[in-house]
Amino acid sequence: MKTDHQNGAPRIVPRPQHVITRANIAETALKVLYRLKAAGFESYLVGGGVRDLLLGREPKDFDIATDATPEEVRALFRNCRLIGRRFRLAHVHFGREIIEVATFRGSHDGNGNGGAVEDGMILRDNVYGTLEEDAWRRDFTINSLYYDIRDFSVVDYTGGLQDLEAGLLRVIGDAGQRYREDPVRMLRAIRFAAKLGFRIHPDSEGPIFELGETLEAVPPARLYEEVLKLLLTGHGVASFELMRHYDLFRHLFPLTEACLAREENGFPHQMVLRGLKNTDARVAEGKPVTPAFLFAVLLWEPVRARAETLQAEGMSEIQALQSASEMVIAESVRHVALPKRFSLQTREIWVMQARLPRRNGKRAQRLLEMPRFRAAYDFLLLRAESGDEALQELAQWWTDFQAVDEESRAALSRNAPAGEGGTGKKRRRRRRRKKPASPE
Ligand code: ATP
Ligand code: MG
Repeated sequence: MKTDHQNGAPRIVPRPQHVITRANIAETALKVLYRLKAAGFESYLVGGGVRDLLLGREPKDFDIATDATPEEVRALFRNCRLIGRRFRLAHVHFGREIIEVATFRGSHDGNGNGGAVEDGMILRDNVYGTLEEDAWRRDFTINSLYYDIRDFSVVDYTGGLQDLEAGLLRVIGDAGQRYREDPVRMLRAIRFAAKLGFRIHPDSEGPIFELGETLEAVPPARLYEEVLKLLLTGHGVASFELMRHYDLFRHLFPLTEACLAREENGFPHQMVLRGLKNTDARVAEGKPVTPAFLFAVLLWEPVRARAETLQAEGMSEIQALQSASEMVIAESVRHVALPKRFSLQTREIWVMQARLPRRNGKRAQRLLEMPRFRAAYDFLLLRAESGDEALQELAQWWTDFQAVDEESRAALSRNAPAGEGGTGKKRRRRRRRKKPASPE
């Protein structure tokens, strides 16, 4: 790869020699590109949009780069808002869709000295620049390809086209330095490798093993956003395994890592993998997924273990679970944030685990009508499928209960045990086998 950057001619691939057609670019993005061009500015599609189109994939969003300043962009669009404090971006709104327009950013000096920090990123490149400078300050070569709206060519300064063909993820510039500037780039490397099935270039992967700790300086809210992109967009299993391979996972979920490290192929590991696998399948089918359930899966083992301790100290099962839930969430959000509206649901899913075994009389029907029942039931299934045999019976009971009519439900409830603990391992072992309740 060329390292004496910022003085080489780009490789320009003319329209007939690449696969990008305007038919595959969102109307809205084209509108923005054309209006900037008509006003006399340069404007390019860049980033994931170009990368995914070249790979024959459907882009998630379209980002635009231009030599117009944010103020100049705003003057062109009624529906435009400027965001960011130090380095401003223009967001052009079309209903719920947002097209992000970024002014070309200048190059950094490369001497690694300090700089302002915004959102965990060191901003040495906090000045406007040229197209060429903009290309060199992007994260990966495959993310630094530009589609020129003037002649529909693709412009490549950093060797991204070659890497795209080779299935290679390569940091632009010195990988260690670029990760230090913004540690989230390590997670981005993993995310793109997982999503695209690319290899990370040896020079780009080496420093990841050493720099995991730098993630701890990144604001939890930014890590939350990144975790959702890693684990909740259809390639969660691959992302999880790569995060563990590069030893980054423990800097995001240290409580979970401690449990996984103790019991590599046992219970917790199976449960997280299975949960992520189900999530990937749901995404592939276009079904909704929620951060509340994801975090319930990721943090269950620490919660369960802590609840077990509290119970041994004399707390009731539900109380122990409630306390443990609170403690684990409070500790976890110091690393990766979780908005309140989701953490409340996560806790409900956990505490319901202690309620689901208690299903005699009117209790079952009442539980069924609770807002978090469906998620709690899915969670129970996941626990049962992950190898907890004692729970398989309980899960089956709930599956039956939901499948039958009201009369049979009443019979199932009458015959149901008063219920006991469903969280503590010791309890589970002590629990005597009961005959499966059969619907009448
Ligand atoms: P996707 O939108 O599919 O998740 P993307 O590559 O478009 O992937 P965005 O987060 O939308 O990712 O960013 C758009 C582009 O901005 C990237 O392709 C990259 O060129 C640049 N970029 C984003 N984040 C960084 C970063 N942390 N450091 C350097 N460049 C970045
Ligand atoms: Mg994008």
